[in-house]
Amino acid sequence: MKVELIHLTPNALALCAGAMSKCYDKNVSPASVVKYGVQSGHFSVLEHAHATFDIECSLAVLGQLTRHRHLSFTVKSSRGAMSHYPGDYDCPRSIQSHPSATKHIEQTFQIYKDLIQSGVPTEDAAYLLPKGTITKLRVTGNLRAWLEYLPKRLCLRAMPEHREVANEIKRLLAFELPEVFANVTTPCDTCKETKCEF
Ligand SMILES: Cc1cc2nc3c(=O)[nH]c(=O)nc-3n(C[C@H](O)[C@H](O)[C@H](O)COP(=O)(O)OP(=O)(O)OC[C@H]3O[C@@H](n4cnc5c(N)ncnc54)[C@H](O)[C@@H]3O)c2cc1C
Repeated sequence: MKVELIHLTPNALALCAGAMSKCYDKNVSPASVVKYGVQSGHFSVLEHAHATFDIECSLAVLGQLTRHRHLSFTVKSSRGAMSHYPGDYDCPRSIQSHPSATKHIEQTFQIYKDLIQSGVPTEDAAYLLPKGTITKLRVTGNLRAWLEYLPKRLCLRAMPEHREVANEIKRLLAFELPEVFANVTTPCDTCKETKCEF
């Protein structure tokens, strides 16, 4: 799992403050964006600034990440590029120690490679790839979209690999914009689940 912050709108809070100034026909400070935009729910002002990340994660996490409808994605093509073993594969520790699982994955990637070498289109052979296959993507979201994404995937009920991705995104955003992201946390106070384990 890798997460890299590629781009953040320069002077993000000042840009959002400029937008908020329209509401009241007077200059608004970045501190007001935090007070009213983040803490009081005037969320649209946060949609003017964007953060872009490069992520390497499993196809399993990709499937979950793309459920967040306000994020924008560009993903490695399983038709236009091959996946290689062992570099492009990872899986939870709970199955790493099972020799039969490891053997199964090795064989699967070998058959995938053999099929492509024998002329089967890469896009067809890709149907064999397991969910632990690592993919690469670039994802962009406005600050509001990230604020809505993070609590759901920081939650202990989220899948561990996806939680790692979310924690890293939060760490990087909180470093750049601590006023907005440092206090983002799980929605435990309103949660209706009876236990944290999934
Ligand atoms: C722990 C966990 C377990 C999960 N398990 C499953 C599962 O078993 N099966 C499954 O299918 N999914 C599962 N999901 C995915 C979940 O159902 C959501 O699809 C995903 O978290 C995206 O979040 P979201 O739908 O709240 O909104 P996003 O797409 O991130 O959008 C953000 C917000 O915009 C608003 N919004 C966006 N689109 C609409 C819309 N069409 N109508 C109204 N409001 C909208 C909502 O307020 C929403 O919260 C799980 C998620 C988590 C965190």
